[in-house]
Amino acid sequence: MANNHFVRYEDLLTIEEYDVETDKEEFTLLPLEDEYVIGKYQERRNMLEYGHQIAVRKSVYEKLIKVAKDLKKIDKNYKIIVVYGFRDMKKQEKYFNEILEEVKDKFTDELEMYEYIHEKIAVPSVSGHPTGGAVDAAIYDAKKNKILDFGSEILDYSTTMCYYETDNISEEAKKNRKLLRNIMMSEGFAPYDGEWWHFSYGDKEWAFYYDKEKSLYNQVEASRIFKK
Ligand SMILES: [Zn+2]
Repeated sequence: MANNHFVRYEDLLTIEEYDVETDKEEFTLLPLEDEYVIGKYQERRNMLEYGHQIAVRKSVYEKLIKVAKDLKKIDKNYKIIVVYGFRDMKKQEKYFNEILEEVKDKFTDELEMYEYIHEKIAVPSVSGHPTGGAVDAAIYDAKKNKILDFGSEILDYSTTMCYYETDNISEEAKKNRKLLRNIMMSEGFAPYDGEWWHFSYGDKEWAFYYDKEKSLYNQVEASRIFKK
């Protein structure tokens, strides 16, 4: 039986503060080609306005390199592929407000409404991708030129097969999910049961998962990273 736990908006509200010092940390653009970590956008919504490179916090990139080095001990052809990282806080707010407009008349309880929307798109104030600490990632086999079998396509939310625990995938896929999760967690990333590919470091989900008082990063707008 599947045994997933989904972090709720209410859970993330318990992390009220972020560390102002660690939040000063710079962002890094992931290389398109590299021995260890590659960043290749695979997002249905068009998020390419900052060019084709994915941005993450510097510490996140350093941790991903360590993850990839550990993976190479298992198979030298393995790398980490990141298909999504930083999202502009303005976009997060825009998408959130679009759904809010659609559903607001159906709810009388505000928290209930926020929980409902949060399942579709994170409430901006607690969202992970706009901090630069969250990544959507998988293991890539450079020799076979493809992502390992994880039982469902990365970023495919259309069925419950995106949940970490699901009965409908092969043993091989289960093994690969476990490998990815264990190796990411060994470098301090927090997993998310609702999407096998989503991991974070330093955001509110991470702080909640590891029982920290504060997050390390706050959400930022793209203008802080990408000077025009
Ligand atoms: Zn994600």
